[in-house]
Amino acid sequence: MPSIVPILDSPIREDSSGVIKFTNCLLVKTNALVPQDLWISSATGKILNGQEILYSYRAAPEQIVDLGGRILSPGLIDTQLNGAYGFDFSVIPSDREGGASAYAKGVSRVNRSLVATGVTSYLPTLTSQLPSVYQTALPFLGPSGTTRDATLGSESLGAHCEGPFLSPTKNGIHNTSVLRTPGVDNSITSLESCYGASNLTSPSPISLITLAPELPGALSSIPSLTSAGIRVSIGHSEATYEEAKSAIKAGCSMITHLFNAMRPLHHRNPGIFGLLGTPSTSITKPYFGIIADGIHLHPTSIKIAWNAHPDGLVLVTDAMRLAGMPDGTYEWTNGSKIIKQGPLLTLEENGKIAGSSIQLVDCVSNFLNWTGSTVPEALRAVTETPARMLGLEGVKGCLDEGADADLCVLDMKENAEGEKRFVVDEVWKFGVKVFERGLEA
Ligand code: ZN
Repeated sequence: MPSIVPILDSPIREDSSGVIKFTNCLLVKTNALVPQDLWISSATGKILNGQEILYSYRAAPEQIVDLGGRILSPGLIDTQLNGAYGFDFSVIPSDREGGASAYAKGVSRVNRSLVATGVTSYLPTLTSQLPSVYQTALPFLGPSGTTRDATLGSESLGAHCEGPFLSPTKNGIHNTSVLRTPGVDNSITSLESCYGASNLTSPSPISLITLAPELPGALSSIPSLTSAGIRVSIGHSEATYEEAKSAIKAGCSMITHLFNAMRPLHHRNPGIFGLLGTPSTSITKPYFGIIADGIHLHPTSIKIAWNAHPDGLVLVTDAMRLAGMPDGTYEWTNGSKIIKQGPLLTLEENGKIAGSSIQLVDCVSNFLNWTGSTVPEALRAVTETPARMLGLEGVKGCLDEGADADLCVLDMKENAEGEKRFVVDEVWKFGVKVFERGLEA
């Protein structure tokens, strides 16, 4: 058999090219579903140029996977996941419970379980915490970089620090006692003393920081963060429209869970939401997270936001550690309790929404049904768009040659009311099948 070494990075065995061809499938490509084969390499974990293999190298695939007409999507990306399977990224186990090493094990456990939901990469998200928590947790949450091991499961693309530089009046479930203000004089020093100076130096384990730009010193800290490769998102904020615009001009590129924990749209002050209506000639319109769980937002609000700026919409779960756990009352931080009823999570003391327990694929189904979007448009909000937001276009969230072979095989079910639901049938990570429905361990 002719060697195909020229298009693969690593040496391959004579008898095993590692080349896999998916056939009889619909590829998700930007705004279309394209009936086309997809070639990948389990040796490099990347997507190959099928034409080149067929015609230039005349090589046969080692394995052909017939998907029976199902959808083949890039793996899903969740940019806001606080925890799952009983593990919370914001809680460091006590020394008695194993401390930092128990924390590392918890992160690995989430990664291995999460991948079965179709989420092949994500941003582990920390709610507002004391500095000691960030400084202990962040070294375990950075991008896995050159470690391309499918058996590790879902992959971190860097941490999302949601806080603690947030507005105390838009705190949501964040504990106000740990919220901080950057301070006008030495704003970046203040951020460094919170997250740890080494964690704000490129390459940083942090991928995204959510802050309230109206806080004193917040605006002046943004350029230092972006120059270290950290993206900055507006959230948990009282910002007016003008303040939000200044934040974008200073380098913010995202809005965290649009509509939730911010001023509502007012006809004389459109607030943060107003950024979506600002002409692109004036500012670069930001990306924005949307929690499509049926609890945080009315379906019509989601449709309005999507119509205003379809290229910026990123579906997130904002799910926390109770995702996948039975209904009941659970201990939360600092003595508070949280009540879980189905997907609804509320704080016992005040009934405030306390995050969600939905899966990302269900957010995509909801979005599809509520907005009248097409299937590729809905999937784009959890693949191509978050990848672009993170500067990973061409690497994640697409089926282009050279991109990582992180894939989801999706089936589509429709009920009597015409409601469509995606079902994750298979998940592939770095070119290796890591989940198949019905064959779960
Ligand atoms: Zn939040």
